[in-house]
Amino acid sequence: MRIVFFTGAGMSAESGIPTYRDSDGLWEQHDPSEVATSDALERNPQKVYDFFNAMTKRLKDYEPNAGHYAIAELSKEHTVHVITQNIDNLHERAGSQDVLHLHGDLTLMRSEPDEDGSIRFYDYDQDIKVGSLCETTKSQLRPYVVLFGEVPDNLGYAKNRIMRADVLVIVGTSLQVYPAASLVAAPKAKYVFLINPDPEENISDDFRFINKTAVEGIKEVVEFLSNLKEAEEEE
Ligand code: NAD
Repeated sequence: MRIVFFTGAGMSAESGIPTYRDSDGLWEQHDPSEVATSDALERNPQKVYDFFNAMTKRLKDYEPNAGHYAIAELSKEHTVHVITQNIDNLHERAGSQDVLHLHGDLTLMRSEPDEDGSIRFYDYDQDIKVGSLCETTKSQLRPYVVLFGEVPDNLGYAKNRIMRADVLVIVGTSLQVYPAASLVAAPKAKYVFLINPDPEENISDDFRFINKTAVEGIKEVVEFLSNLKEAEEEE
């Protein structure tokens, strides 16, 4: 079976990474307009670099949770694609091989586009400062993060995978950030699950709503898939 997991900040909440919009979320402590917008990068780039420098360093303090591992485990039996709005690397660290990041990846820094539009990526293994330059293009380096006001990456690939999925599992996202959220509107998959512990996030009759956290909800999906397999084998 072809299974797509579409994940948001709630996927990593049980690993201890704060979400953006919950009451204990990241935006309670930081003003997004100061640290995470394309305007902020122009106005005060060092403040934006400092915010993401610190975030990248903290990545190692978090571990994948049982949900990340369960998704990786499923790929032993199924074709599993992960499409994530998260910028952490917990899916990869749990063993998922096929992970598409829509909003960037905190483990990487990048150059500005070349004259021909190509971008160079580097490991984010040291702080970015004003004056940290790409060795090839000599442009200013920046975190590989899609800031508010910028266009998400990989949208075409993501749409393609979602449209071809037999099972779509949407986990831990408030589906408030566009255009990423529009990717899962009107899905074609036979089974579509929406996992969220907040009952108010049950936003569409198109989805089978699992009112649980990512870890518990993914367990339920795994069980559903194995029951489905047993039923098919009996037929
Ligand atoms: P969001 O903060 O808008 O929403 C988080 C959602 O997760 C909410 O609907 C909440 O009810 C749900 N949630 C909370 N705890 C949960 C749990 N234990 N299990 C399952 N769901 C839970 O997040 P979003 O929709 O992903 O917002 C989009 C932006 O937030 C994305 O751009 C993403 O890059 C960014 N973000 C990423 C990270 C990360 O990389 N881990 C962290 C914070 C924000």
